[in-house]
Amino acid sequence: MSARTGILLVVSGPSGSGKTTLCHRLADEKAAHYSISCTTRLPRPGEVNGEDYHFLTLEEFQEKLAAGAFLEHALVHGNHYGTLRSEVLGHLANGTDVVMDIDVQGAAQVRACEDPAIVRARVDLFVMPPSEHELHARLAGRGTDSEDTIALRMQNAMEEMRHWPTYTYRLLSSTREEDYMRFKALLVAEQLRVSRLPIR
Ligand code: 5GP
Repeated sequence: MSARTGILLVVSGPSGSGKTTLCHRLADEKAAHYSISCTTRLPRPGEVNGEDYHFLTLEEFQEKLAAGAFLEHALVHGNHYGTLRSEVLGHLANGTDVVMDIDVQGAAQVRACEDPAIVRARVDLFVMPPSEHELHARLAGRGTDSEDTIALRMQNAMEEMRHWPTYTYRLLSSTREEDYMRFKALLVAEQLRVSRLPIR
């Protein structure tokens, strides 16, 4: 038996596609480390600092950006989001798989990254909601966002969905269980790749 290097599973999709639930479930089952992003947006009810996000002030975010702490970062829905290098690189080197829930701009930055550890590790997936109608229902059903916020997120979702052809994998969402089964299957298949195994 030989150790392999970790997989960096980059997951994007509009808010309401169910991607965050998929990523959290993978981490809850200890199948991967969930990369906790930094954000300048305010916590939603029930969100925990250091678990869902590292909630930062704009000044704190800018300090980290200036220090080169981010692997990628983007402005999404008017708030800053970024992935700390420390949430990813050490885990990959230890052979731990990392799952990250980031927007299309961030995914493009990870794809453009030339760090060999990232190049070898990355694989990207776009999660699509089944329909526009269902997406609106999911966003409204959360009950945490105002009508204005939902309208903005719908608009952003339609724009974001244009990018799915730039991803290697696409998952068209159906039921939670079906989605998770296919999501997990992707990770398992990636774990079998010869390019992740040391050749002796
Ligand atoms: P939310 O505020 O609903 O949690 O997330 C809004 C959007 O920001 C989602 O599309 C989510 O994937 C994205 N996002 C979360 N963390 C990051 C990050 O670290 N980098 C980037 N580029 N996007 C992120």
